[in-house]
Amino acid sequence: MSYVHWDREELTQEWKRVQADYDAWKGQGLTLNMARGKPGLEQLALSRELFTILDFDHCVEDGIDARNYGELAGMPCARRYWAQMLDVEPEQCFVGGSSSLTMMYDLVAKAWSNGLLHSPKPWSQLERVKFLCPCPGYDRHFRITQSFGIELIPISMTEEGPDMDQVEQQVADPDVKGIWCVPKYSNPDGIIYSEQTIARMAALKPAVPDFMVIWDNAYCVHQFRGEYQSIPDILRLCEQNGNPDMVYEFASTSKMTIPGAGMAVMAASRANIQYLSGLMDAQMISCDKINQLRQVRFLKDKAHTLELMQQHAALLRPRFDAFLAELEKLSPLEIARWTQPQGGYFISLYTLPGCAKRTVELCRQAGLVMTQAGAAYPYGKDPEDRHIRIAPSYPALEDVKTAAKVFCTCLKLAALEKQNL
Ligand code: PLP
Repeated sequence: MSYVHWDREELTQEWKRVQADYDAWKGQGLTLNMARGKPGLEQLALSRELFTILDFDHCVEDGIDARNYGELAGMPCARRYWAQMLDVEPEQCFVGGSSSLTMMYDLVAKAWSNGLLHSPKPWSQLERVKFLCPCPGYDRHFRITQSFGIELIPISMTEEGPDMDQVEQQVADPDVKGIWCVPKYSNPDGIIYSEQTIARMAALKPAVPDFMVIWDNAYCVHQFRGEYQSIPDILRLCEQNGNPDMVYEFASTSKMTIPGAGMAVMAASRANIQYLSGLMDAQMISCDKINQLRQVRFLKDKAHTLELMQQHAALLRPRFDAFLAELEKLSPLEIARWTQPQGGYFISLYTLPGCAKRTVELCRQAGLVMTQAGAAYPYGKDPEDRHIRIAPSYPALEDVKTAAKVFCTCLKLAALEKQNL
């Protein structure tokens, strides 16, 4: 039964019980970490073959020697791989280094230093630049734009993705230059943008010619329940809506193979790829094509990648199930609500107003590190102090079970403390 219906005496008794549970957890000297969405050790082992798949004498593909300089936009086989994965053309793919986040940072940096294809001037020469941040969202996205002094504008998330009424209203402001999007299994709510949201995003009519949609498709094949789900190709939709150069799509194999040592891609219009390649030509001769080749030889194609992702799913699913099962026991108390993701790396949990920071602090004191409360909001400020991001992928299953129990105890304690008993 919901705490709302308990009388003072019952709540006081409950508080004593929960406090005793909490003290017992604290006494165990636990060291658990559910803070970042990292693949677990067993997941990494699925890519063992990456370390042996290449040998020195077989590094030529399509007549291109991966061991030498050249092919700024990536090995042709890598461009074909990503074109198939993202349902675009190989010429629209720039295959870069090992991190998509670095490529996103670099794109914003280029907008800042040189301007984008249609920029009247570099963003650094403007008095104000604002960026739309659907939230809760990915803290590292927000930090990229914040690090350039760009003002972060929060946009509410709905079940279907960013609130497009708010987005359409904001893009009429000439200071607003872009938006962060994670269209599939969004970090952290696990939402897949609806077709209508994607259609409205592609049809935006921004006030400025160099408005950018950063379409971070980091979780494009990362379902851990059910079948692969496709979403409309935003590049094609933008082109059909007269916005061919508005969108930049990113992805990487970080959570397919080895995080931080995967293969990242930027997909964009041919005109954008040409313009940005021109700027990158001053920055590098070519990326690590040896890595691109071994990633492609290992992952092969989309069908084979999806098979591998089933193996990742088999390891991720029990961890999510274990945490969700423990949360489910709290349902009757009505002290939180949470998402039931089908893919991605996170569960989003919303506490009673004003309880998120306290819950995370109680966890920390009991030896369980969670992502900082509020991290998923611009400037780390969750206006209602309600949101906590849960990342169950990394710890061993038994540890996830223990962490879930500790977390639920802390959540209850924080809620009871709010009752002023
Ligand atoms: N984008 C999103 C939405 C993520 O959640 C993450 C990692 O958690 C990344 C990008 C990082 O990608 P990469 O390893 O390719 O830099």
